[in-house]
Amino acid sequence: MTRIFDDDLATGLGTQAIHAGQRPEPLAGAIMTPVYLTSTYVQDGLGRNKGYEYARSRNPTREALERNVATLEGGRHGFAFASGTACVDSIMKLFQSGDHVICGQNVYGGTFRLFDRLLQNYGLRFTYVDTRDPQRIADACTSRTVAVLVETPTNPLMWITDLSAAADITHRAGALLLVDNTFATPIFQRPFDYGADIVFHSTTKYLNGHSDMIGGMAVLRDDALAERLGFIQNAAGAVPGPFDCWLALRGTKTLHLRMPRHDENGRRIAAWLAARLGAERIVYPGLPSHPQHELACRQMRGFGGMISVDLGTRERAAHVLERTRIFSLAESLGGVESLISHPASMTHASVPADRRAQLGITDGLIRLSCGVEDGDDLVADLDRAFDER
Ligand SMILES: *Cc1c(COP(=O)(O)O)cnc(C)c1O
Repeated sequence: MTRIFDDDLATGLGTQAIHAGQRPEPLAGAIMTPVYLTSTYVQDGLGRNKGYEYARSRNPTREALERNVATLEGGRHGFAFASGTACVDSIMKLFQSGDHVICGQNVYGGTFRLFDRLLQNYGLRFTYVDTRDPQRIADACTSRTVAVLVETPTNPLMWITDLSAAADITHRAGALLLVDNTFATPIFQRPFDYGADIVFHSTTKYLNGHSDMIGGMAVLRDDALAERLGFIQNAAGAVPGPFDCWLALRGTKTLHLRMPRHDENGRRIAAWLAARLGAERIVYPGLPSHPQHELACRQMRGFGGMISVDLGTRERAAHVLERTRIFSLAESLGGVESLISHPASMTHASVPADRRAQLGITDGLIRLSCGVEDGDDLVADLDRAFDER
C-alpha cells in the first residue's frame, strides 16, 4: 500500500512543510518527488488513462507543490503559475469587462503595471485606495465591485492592512478578498483565518527562498471558485515547468526554519538602524515606532526580514548601496542571501514618478532583504557601509 501523507496526521507547520502533498514515487519508492519532465502521458486505451493526459493540464511535480502550499496556507486547492505576476493575471481572468476591482495603493509595482497598462484595456476597472484605513475600501465599493486586492505588509513601505476588517467590508459588498501573502508567508500570517478568499504568492521570494526560480501560487478554500481558477490555469496556460516546481518544493521544506531566522535578523538590524539613524527613518512593522505595530502584532506571528530605510537623498542611498559587501545590490527578496536595493530606480521604476512621490517611495529610500546569514556579520557589513568615509 502506498503511504500518502494525510494532512490530519500533523497540524504543525514544520511537519506539513516537509510532508504535505507528497507521497513516495510509485516505481521505486523514491522519497523525493521526481521532476516529471514530460509533455504527455501514454494512455492505456481509448478513453483510459491514469488521470494524466497532457502536462499543461496536470503534472505530478506541480501537483505536489500545489498540495504542499495549499496545506501550509490552510486552504484546500493550490494552483501554480509561471510567475507571481502570471498568477495575478490568471486570478483576474475570473472577472469580466465592466467589473470593478479595488486595489491597495502600495501594491507590488508589477501588479500595478499589469492592471494599469494591460488589464484596464480589457475593460476591467481599478480603484487604488490606501487600505491601511479599511473605511476607504468601503467608500470605494460600487455595485460592480467584484474583488478587493491587498498586500500586507506592502513593498517597500510596510503598510499593514487589517485583514479581518477588509474581509468584512469586502464580503458585505459581495466581493472576493484577494491577499498577496508573499512578504509574510504562512509561517507569519494566515489570511484565510481572517476571511481571505484567495491567498497568493510570488513563490520566487520566500517560499522558494533560494533565488533560483520564478513562480507564483494561488490557494483557495472554496471548491466552486477553485474549479474556475483551475479551468483558467489550463485554458490560459501560464503554468510553471516541473523543474521550477521541484525547486520551489525543495524550498518550502525549510520555510519554517528560514522564516524565524529572517525575522531574527530583521528585528536585530531594524533595532540597530533605529539606534543609529533614528527610528523615524526605519520602516519595519516589528519596531514599536511603526504606526501600525499593534495591528502587526495582532495579525502576524513574526515580521520577517524586510526593512526600508529613508536616507534622505539619492546620493546618501547610493553611498550605502555601493559599499555593502554581504548585502548584494539586486532586485527581488526573500532568498537566503541578503539583498539591498533602491526601490525608486529598481523594483518601482515601473510606477510613475508622481505616483512614487505621492506614496513616499523617495529617491533616498533603500530596502533591505535580510537573509539568513549570521546577524553579527550583517550588522558589521552595514556598519562599514554607513561609515561616512
Ligand atoms: C515579486 C512580487 C510579485 C510578482 O511576482 P513575480 O514572481 O516576480 O512575477 C508580486 N507580489 C509581491 C509582493 C512580490 O514581491
